[in-house]
Amino acid sequence: MSRAYNFSAGPATLPEPVLQQAQAEMLDWHGVGASIVELSHRGPEFMQVAQEAEADLRTLMSIPDDYAVLFLQGGATTQQALIALNFADPGQSADYVITGHWGKTALKQVKPYVNATVAANGEAGGFRDIPARGEWKLSDDAAYVHYTANETIHGVEFRDIPDVGSTPVFADFSSSIASEPLDVSRFGLIYAGAQKNLGPVGVAVVIVRRDLLERAGQPRAEILDYRAHVKGESMLNTPPTWNWYLAGLVFKWMIKEGGVAEFAKRNARKAAALYEVIDGSGGFYRNEVAAPVRSRMNVPFFLHDEALDKPFLKEAEAAGLISLKGHRALGGMRASIYNAMPEEGVQALAAFMRDFQQRNG
Ligand code: PMP
Repeated sequence: MSRAYNFSAGPATLPEPVLQQAQAEMLDWHGVGASIVELSHRGPEFMQVAQEAEADLRTLMSIPDDYAVLFLQGGATTQQALIALNFADPGQSADYVITGHWGKTALKQVKPYVNATVAANGEAGGFRDIPARGEWKLSDDAAYVHYTANETIHGVEFRDIPDVGSTPVFADFSSSIASEPLDVSRFGLIYAGAQKNLGPVGVAVVIVRRDLLERAGQPRAEILDYRAHVKGESMLNTPPTWNWYLAGLVFKWMIKEGGVAEFAKRNARKAAALYEVIDGSGGFYRNEVAAPVRSRMNVPFFLHDEALDKPFLKEAEAAGLISLKGHRALGGMRASIYNAMPEEGVQALAAFMRDFQQRNG
């Protein structure tokens, strides 16, 4: 069997040791005679898995005790809607900073519930930069300010947590969570679908400052209520046990590898290697994002001649480099290089890109 280097944006490559462990434990988890996904979520076995996953994520991300951690279904998109229902009064303002496709999605999800105000929008510039903080128009009475820490499609990443005064900052960290050390205490809420940096699709992580849970929010069913989910320890209904378990294995792997500080170093080296090939190609490859906000997780790039796209993808695949096709909204290519992408994979891609240019330049 040979595994390719998989640059998929999500669902994305998982650490090989994690897949091997899941395989080894598939039929008989720790001697109980059944797979962990065949056991009750309320039994001692899964309770242990769930509690360890939370404890490990807290260790990994240095999450303070006054923050609750939830493992929920519905992906990141559902959390985008729930934040308005849970934390904003009907019709209250909520400020949105739009730096790409996913910021637009987040805005769309809350429109029925709040007075969603666009504080800043990078769309006029093709989402190639982040509007300067000085130009943001924030509301006085906003329930929160929302931004997308890393835009998975446009390849635009905040390198600093914006200072917005006393309004709680809510952020979508779907594609960059746990990729570097983060001061969680600067946020009101962080959410992320797991399928890029944390594990498999099917579970989303929400990290929320506990005092915010006292807000009344809007009329909603219990299943849409974060306070109820915290009280029910993310088990108001049957949780996605398989996904939660796999994410837990990924957390243990990340801790063993040296934690987020180590991944920050690897990720910086990986991203630098790709941008170096692109910028050094004399226009053969192109990435138009402003250098200070270029994503370290998703590197979108274009070939100077679209006619080369097909041969590029075909030859890359033959070289064991898969899922490089860009998002349909942008076209071109995209290399997603999350924590689980080894440095050797990025080096192989960089070498392939140089070679492809030599043969086609
Ligand atoms: N936000 C970001 C930044 C994303 O990359 C994605 C998925 N690619 C989403 C939100 C939507 O996530 P989900 O499919 O889990 O709802």
